[in-house]
Amino acid sequence: MSEPRYDALIIGAGFSGLYMLHKLRELGLSVIAVEAGENIGGTWLFNRYPGARCDIESIEYSYSFSEEIEQEWVWTETMPAQPEIEAYLHFVADKLDLRRDIRLNTRVTAMAFDAADAGWRIDTDTGVRFTASYVVAASGILSVPLEPDLPGMDAFDGASLFTGSWPKAGYDLTGKRVGVIGTGSSGVQLIPVVAREAAHLTVFQRSAAYTLPWEVRPLEADELKTLKASYPEIRAAQREHPVGAARLNAFSVLLDTLSQPPIKSASRAEQLRAIDEHGVMGALAWGDIFFDIEANRMAARLYGEAIARIVKDPATAAALVPTHPFGCKRPIIDQGYYETFNRDNVTLVDLRAGAIRAITPTGISTEQGDYGLDVIIYATGFDAMTGALTRIDITGRDGADLRQIWQDEGPAAYLGLAVAGFPNLFIIQAPGSPSATTNFVAALEQHVEWIGDCITYLRANGQRTIEARPEAQQEWIEHTTSLVEPTVLAHPSCNSWYNGGNVPGKKRRYMAYNAGIPEYRRRCDEVAATGYPGFDLA
Ligand code: NAP
Repeated sequence: MSEPRYDALIIGAGFSGLYMLHKLRELGLSVIAVEAGENIGGTWLFNRYPGARCDIESIEYSYSFSEEIEQEWVWTETMPAQPEIEAYLHFVADKLDLRRDIRLNTRVTAMAFDAADAGWRIDTDTGVRFTASYVVAASGILSVPLEPDLPGMDAFDGASLFTGSWPKAGYDLTGKRVGVIGTGSSGVQLIPVVAREAAHLTVFQRSAAYTLPWEVRPLEADELKTLKASYPEIRAAQREHPVGAARLNAFSVLLDTLSQPPIKSASRAEQLRAIDEHGVMGALAWGDIFFDIEANRMAARLYGEAIARIVKDPATAAALVPTHPFGCKRPIIDQGYYETFNRDNVTLVDLRAGAIRAITPTGISTEQGDYGLDVIIYATGFDAMTGALTRIDITGRDGADLRQIWQDEGPAAYLGLAVAGFPNLFIIQAPGSPSATTNFVAALEQHVEWIGDCITYLRANGQRTIEARPEAQQEWIEHTTSLVEPTVLAHPSCNSWYNGGNVPGKKRRYMAYNAGIPEYRRRCDEVAATGYPGFDLA
């Protein structure tokens, strides 16, 4: 079954897809958004696990393009929990009447560029085939959960749950023996909540996390009113801020360390004062830790001392100290993570002392013993940045195969939004975009607006195709990589979704753009203002 040709097809109806749909409709294009999920929401639909919450303030982790939405929507907490973000996206979809142009339960399986037609043919799992002049992939950077390859996973007699595809109806963990594998942002958020519900919680930790305690509190009506009245200033400050969020958040804490004195010249008394006054956060606030691996290790040792002041059992406290450099994984914030390990019903299994051997019908077998479980929760992360697109058969000009190219040559895109060989395909937050190390909503708004302007330019100038040039793409990769080379982020011990090191076999390349959104915007605007150098227009 084929649909009439659209000007544009958008893959995904999460935060990015919804705004892209609105933007392109505003520009007068015929647009359809195709969403694999049973509803809109993307990441914020699937990650419904207990404790799921954003680590940027709601007032900034929200669309800035509509004053009406800003004023009408009521945030109830400083940092929004998953149900509230999901509800917000529904509010936006209704407000902008987006649903009529969204096909739910429809997964794009393949797409091919037809040079003669200057457009894409798009196949879906429902059998409906679309054609469109442009495709915008708004398929998310953290939308493909990564299932570990552990022997016996299917043979487990209890329940297996994944944070990235949590059951819609929830899951009652009361009275259950629960195991959690994974201590990244999802695990760290989930663990304190599960500990309060479960009869017993066993945490299987492969890499210990750096995580900063954070207070989340209700937004009082008066405070919200004042904030709403200050939106113009709040948004202006966000636009100027490298991470796209000027109020205190996980990223800004990291950035603020740059202006602190170096740990290497701090006396022992000064180091201890830092953790006396600021706990684990004080241990990491030093100006030299991003550029000097030894300084970073000193901070990690101090961090361990700060943990030992919270976690009563010395062996557990020692096991919670990370061995990778601080900064090379995404910063995490938590509510009561370390305190959770003082509970009688919580056990930490440090997999560095003996790995998981297999999942058995009754639990998890490790090199240090077997653990009986009723439920296993996998908080094992995502095939990030590229995973959503490499699961689609994407064929560009002259048979170019996106999956193969990214596999062989590493993930790459010009300006972090278009790939050489794939005309008229825009990717919201592709490799080389600010996304991963910024406020994602601020980052995506810039992309949506730039793409909207670009399509407007093409139409106004009678151009049917736009395609990134390989040499421009290569220069962009070199520029992006050069930003992290002098930092500990390039250290060989850094394995994370930032560089693909979390996915076995994935070609490693640092995938975020780390000069900040304002500098990124400046570069993108310059390209647009000078007739799109680095792209071929035809
Ligand atoms: P993640 O940061 O990649 O963490 C995955 C965890 O699972 C790591 O601890 C990893 O250990 C472990 N793991 C993976 N495979 C394993 C295996 N076979 N055996 C044992 N352990 C294994 O994933 P995530 O926690 O889902 O977070 C991903 C990103 O989502 C975050 O960085 C953040 O950007 C976003 N997020 C944000 C929030 C928030 O806003 N607060 C919340 C959740 C997620 P290794 O480190 O050793 O690989």
